[in-house]
Amino acid sequence: MESRPTVSQRKETLKKLLHVLSLREDAIIQALRDDFGKPAFETVLSETFIVSSTLKSTIRNLRSWASDDWVFPSVLNFPSSDRIVKEPYGKVLVISPWNYPFQLALLPVIAAYAAGNSVILKPSELTPNTSSLISNIVSEVFDPVDVEVFQGGSDVAEKLLERRFDYIFFTGSVATGKKIAEAAARNLTPVTLELGGKNPCIVTSRANLKLSARRIVWGKFLNAGQTCIAPDFLLVEASVKSKFIAMLKAEITAAFGDAPANSPDLARIISDKHWERLVGLIDAEKVVHGGQSDRESRFIAPTLLDETDGESPVMREEIFGPILPVVGYDNESDLDAIIGRYEKPLSLYVFSDDRSESSRIMRQFPFGGGCINDVVCHFANERLPFGGVGHSGMGAYHGKRSFDTFVHKKSLTRRGTWLDIPLRYAPYENKVEFLRKWFKWL
Ligand code: NAD
Repeated sequence: MESRPTVSQRKETLKKLLHVLSLREDAIIQALRDDFGKPAFETVLSETFIVSSTLKSTIRNLRSWASDDWVFPSVLNFPSSDRIVKEPYGKVLVISPWNYPFQLALLPVIAAYAAGNSVILKPSELTPNTSSLISNIVSEVFDPVDVEVFQGGSDVAEKLLERRFDYIFFTGSVATGKKIAEAAARNLTPVTLELGGKNPCIVTSRANLKLSARRIVWGKFLNAGQTCIAPDFLLVEASVKSKFIAMLKAEITAAFGDAPANSPDLARIISDKHWERLVGLIDAEKVVHGGQSDRESRFIAPTLLDETDGESPVMREEIFGPILPVVGYDNESDLDAIIGRYEKPLSLYVFSDDRSESSRIMRQFPFGGGCINDVVCHFANERLPFGGVGHSGMGAYHGKRSFDTFVHKKSLTRRGTWLDIPLRYAPYENKVEFLRKWFKWL
């Protein structure tokens, strides 16, 4: 069996990674700017800070995460001691998307390596600057036997999937997720699938409307709406809908000015193909704010659509861009009908200062994770599992759960030899009565 780095060696390597990332922060910011105009503030907030804080907590906790968990033994096995051993799976494949190309590539790599696995990472081909920077950083920090980066598109990923891995961690679209699951099934390889979907965001008449508008505008247009947990569409109680649209407009203007194309704070769309798809979703007759776009710079203005048709293209597919349809609803059974049309989303949000109303709505619908009175921010707490359900994914990570994702929990019972109760051995004779009586007391 090949020897793997010890916990101490892994901690040292992760410290080196932390150091190298701190030296390269400007280069990371530049790579993301070159790839899709991501503002430096957003890169620090949603990419480098998340990776470095994950590294710090992994380094701090790795020894305790990796150590055996002792559990109470069963009285049936007396005398014994029982424990759970954390065994790395072996070879891990990580395939990551373009939208948060730095953190969504590195978080699973850090966890898989920390857990004692060797890792191959296939980052997105749509962010070539970030992907090649990640490749440089990985080869500077890790032994290639431990972590290696394979750059390229779906062809490279498909070739990798022909190999046998012990765990596959995939982040990306539902369509590709299904292909990953099929490929993994050939070898019964366990998978985590971090996928997407249409995330509803409900605003009731009991919400603090001004603050809700401000928080929604931030979370929707962060990364130009190219966020898996961004609110996809708004469901606003009809009695406050027009007032709320006016507030959303005011917040968009406050954030990005009257000419958002000139704002330094709005990322661009990742590719021409995505730009064309998104522009195709903007129905000019429904635009109540924004709607402008520029093909050359792959710009799309933060756009609000007053949407009434649940069958329109923008209401059928995951938007994944700076377009926000606002749909009215009259009562909670309307919410059931609208949300029930879609697969289980990755996130769901509700804005309401009425605690029983917001709790009721949140418990009514299945979804990966979400917030009351905010959007996106549940992602920031590493003590909360992050993952989807149904079509939005399977498995979850962050914090200790990331480590746990990449280890098999091996059960071990050590029996004492100083005593051997003969009850279980044949001939069973008349022991059954004794057994029944004894089991009653357990
Ligand atoms: P994608 O599925 O197109 O690509 C993701 C990765 O899979 C890329 O590295 C790509 O090269 C690779 N890939 C593409 N075709 C493949 C194939 N046939 N076999 C194997 N690998 C293949 O997704 P994307 O466009 O990069 O990302 C956007 C999607 O990801 C959205 O749906 C979004 O909701 C989702 N997403 C989910 C999360 C999450 O944490 N749940 C995070 C970010 C993005």
